[in-house]
Amino acid sequence: MQCNAKIQYSKGQRCPREAIPGKSKCKSHGNGGPRTIDGRKAIARARSKGMNDSLAERIAHRKASFELYMLAKLAGVAWTGRPPKKI
Ligand SMILES: [Zn+2]
Repeated sequence: MQCNAKIQYSKGQRCPREAIPGKSKCKSHGNGGPRTIDGRKAIARARSKGMNDSLAERIAHRKASFELYMLAKLAGVAWTGRPPKKI
């Protein structure tokens, strides 16, 4: 089956490429992208440079850095930079 995407609207031409089997358009005209939740997650993970930690991991990290901050405060060590957010 031919791809049903329209190209060059003024001339009313259609995309000459073959549609993906079972779909109505070719590879370059849609029906692309992740369909499942797992697929979306995989794409997001592949594209992002960080923040792939789970919420639990982030909370654990925040707790740990806050503890370190409190220890530094108690020990009288100067804390450079922004103090961590309270839990
Ligand atoms: Zn097409």
